[in-house]
Amino acid sequence: MRSAKTLLASAALCSVLAVPAHAELDVAKLKQTIETSFESEYPKLDALYKDIHAHPEIAFQEVKTSAKLAAEMRAIGFEVTEKVGKTGLVAIYKNGDGPTIMVRTELDALPMEEKTGLPYASHDKAIWHGRETFVAHSCGHDIHMASWVGTAKTLVGLKDHWQGTLMFIAQPAEEEVAGAKAMIEDGLFTRFPKPDVGFALHDGAFPYGYIAYRVGVGSSNADGLYIKFKGRGGHGAMPQATIDPVMMASRFVVDVQSIISREKDPTEFGVVSIGALHAGTAGNIIPDEAILLGTIRTFKPEVRAKMHDGIERTARAVAAMANAPAPDVRITEGTKAVVNDPAVVGAAEKVLKAAFGDKFRVTPPGTPSEDYSEYINAGVPSMFFNIGVYDPERVAAARNSGPPLPGNHSPQFAPVPQPTIQTGVTAMTLAVLSAFDQRAKGQ
Ligand SMILES: [Zn+2]
Ligand SMILES: [Zn+2]
Repeated sequence: MRSAKTLLASAALCSVLAVPAHAELDVAKLKQTIETSFESEYPKLDALYKDIHAHPEIAFQEVKTSAKLAAEMRAIGFEVTEKVGKTGLVAIYKNGDGPTIMVRTELDALPMEEKTGLPYASHDKAIWHGRETFVAHSCGHDIHMASWVGTAKTLVGLKDHWQGTLMFIAQPAEEEVAGAKAMIEDGLFTRFPKPDVGFALHDGAFPYGYIAYRVGVGSSNADGLYIKFKGRGGHGAMPQATIDPVMMASRFVVDVQSIISREKDPTEFGVVSIGALHAGTAGNIIPDEAILLGTIRTFKPEVRAKMHDGIERTARAVAAMANAPAPDVRITEGTKAVVNDPAVVGAAEKVLKAAFGDKFRVTPPGTPSEDYSEYINAGVPSMFFNIGVYDPERVAAARNSGPPLPGNHSPQFAPVPQPTIQTGVTAMTLAVLSAFDQRAKGQ
């Protein structure tokens, strides 16, 4: 049995030891420290950003990009493992006992031509699916990489303020929503520590200095759609002898939208878009088949199930109307919605609100999809947030019928590097510190 005296003594010791961990974070002071360190680091980050921007690499080909990040992270003191999930990398920094916090960036660019006219614009090309294509960082993953390196450097500089392990991962092929899965299948959470908390950010066409976030659903479920309508080919002048698959495909493209307007609850999000329609070779030949490719986006599983059902039913009905054989309908499961963890967001919210005031705002979930959801579904409670990239005056002008803002995936997408990366580094550093602090308090 422990004496009352010993109990009192150990309680006193506990409270002394507990003071640093339980003290509230001095956000204003931390923000100042982060910004000062950012200023001295920025010339290096700017050079890294522009180099990566000018030399983008496409999904699963990010060999040079990955090597550049590996070198940066080793220089900061991280232990780096390359080729995780083909071209991905994992960088670990241990700083005593404590939780493992993950920060993820993407590595890949898009198969498209950049038309920004910037001095550091990409003119690079690559072979993709057997053909040559231009490559461009038109989704801003280069901003994420520069912010990721900057955050790593800042957190190591602040290592007296936290205890635990940093797990910085650079993921390939986000645009193909395949890289997260590739890293997990290659042992991301078995060969390396399974993180207690994870973070990722994405840039977007709103003012720099602003941060957008949400609790719960943050991005959409994406499923792929493939339909083959089977007809009977023949002469364009004798349609009575044919079953016209172009007619079926056209009817389907229009009728499928009635699922959105008539079947789905209008207050719920759901989109089906047909992005490709392949049929025929010449104007006077009715082909014997038509192939459609589309994408189905939803937030909720019940809306998703309803849409899948409606799409299949509409395709079969369109074929039945033409007296054609049943079509092949394939819906391929894509990536799941990113769902932010309330406790992780709650801790970060307090700190980021104190740091950014009303520039830190809740926004509705985005309709694009993100394979960051793979990490969440593998059991990493997370927060995914967005940062703006454009001059606030340009954004205001666009709102007042000025020139529209090029968004992600536009050939004109052109973030303003310094303020955007600064917000990325400051917000991500504070978010990571909030997670260490939350865990230290045992919440
Ligand atoms: Zn993208
Ligand atoms: Zn992206």
